[in-house]
Amino acid sequence: MCFSKSSAPLCALLQLLLVTSSTISRVSAATPQDDGDNAIPQKHLQWTGCLPGPLVHASIPTCVTLAASGLDRDHDKLLPPADTAGPWAYAPFCADPTPYCAFTSTAFQSRGVSVITAKPSNSTSALSLIASIVSSRFPPPIRLPSGNPPYEVREIKNKGLGVVATRKIPRGSKFMLDYAMVLADMEMPSKLRMAQGRELVRRAMDRLPDPEKVLGLARSSLTPDKTPAAEDVLRTNAFEVELGGKRFMGLFPDIARINHACKPSAMTKFNATDLSNTVTAFRDILPGEEITISYTAYNLPSSDRRPRLEAQWGFKCTCDLCSSPASELAASDARRRKIDQVGPRVLRAVDKGDFEAAIRLNRDLIDTIREEGMMPHMGDYYEIMGRLYLAWAKTREARTWFNRALGEYKAAGVTEGVEKLEGVIRQLSGAN
Ligand SMILES: [Zn+2]
Repeated sequence: MCFSKSSAPLCALLQLLLVTSSTISRVSAATPQDDGDNAIPQKHLQWTGCLPGPLVHASIPTCVTLAASGLDRDHDKLLPPADTAGPWAYAPFCADPTPYCAFTSTAFQSRGVSVITAKPSNSTSALSLIASIVSSRFPPPIRLPSGNPPYEVREIKNKGLGVVATRKIPRGSKFMLDYAMVLADMEMPSKLRMAQGRELVRRAMDRLPDPEKVLGLARSSLTPDKTPAAEDVLRTNAFEVELGGKRFMGLFPDIARINHACKPSAMTKFNATDLSNTVTAFRDILPGEEITISYTAYNLPSSDRRPRLEAQWGFKCTCDLCSSPASELAASDARRRKIDQVGPRVLRAVDKGDFEAAIRLNRDLIDTIREEGMMPHMGDYYEIMGRLYLAWAKTREARTWFNRALGEYKAAGVTEGVEKLEGVIRQLSGAN
């Protein structure tokens, strides 16, 4: 699993190993591309249940609505959507003469979404992709536990609002589902004059059916009187997500209520095929406990982490780890530095074809991660171990580690890639 916010070194490691060991491909293309040929025509965008090729979901009947309507059965040959129309409720608001505009759908997931990006020059743009997603009727990507949600938004001492568990949330359960309400191209701020950028963000939020849903989120600017609310909210609450090969700031208003901890209890995962973001518990969360996620990369020592949290999110971190005795914090920092350094050393050993050394280092990495309590990545590291053994032609050990990875993924509620891994384990079983 490669998380948008936090795990660049791990992603690099997984990707490299993916190249090394072509039998398994756990890191799938997270960002589907709209290839134009299969895109949905503009006139059908408002209602069709048909999805463009790369986004086809097994549980959605192929183009049932489209075919039943008799409008056009030959959907494979339809033209891509016109980029400035499609699902958008208004004419785009543009920062002329730049290509940047704000596009707003008032219908997406019943609460709308605004997208700030450049007017596209071709049909494979991120905007085309987002337009087709916004227009599609996706089933919810996950099944949440029935009944009331197991959490509530509550005032937390010295932190403003936060999210607190109202009953036990078991490890691995996905308990919160949210959708993007604002997506802003990360390049936009550097391409526009400040006033133009601010106006785009303001319009993008004002045009939503309930602007307060986003404008009421936390602000962190040190100069709230001088910084417009829309900009402050976006900067304080956005996640970095990737769509159509472009990086966006994504605002997910429910998830934005979850506060940070340096050793968090939950993690988020963005799904580029439907603009959803889900929150999974990576350990048991008890009733009354505040639910937390990490806003920074996991591998940062406190000396990097805390100034970053203060500069970007405007708070001094007082989480359990940051409030622990100096010796404990120092030990944690040493472990995180080590985790940061061992990853590249594993890669270098793989580069040299020294799998024995790579395995030794990765083993050390696993022990350190376990000691630091950073469990969400354990399945990935087990899988890496399996791949290293496989590359070293030790299939029995490879199978053992893949089985461990599988157990870990299942316990952590990871479904993506699990079937493929099971297939590989079967293959390896047959080989012995
Ligand atoms: Zn902290």
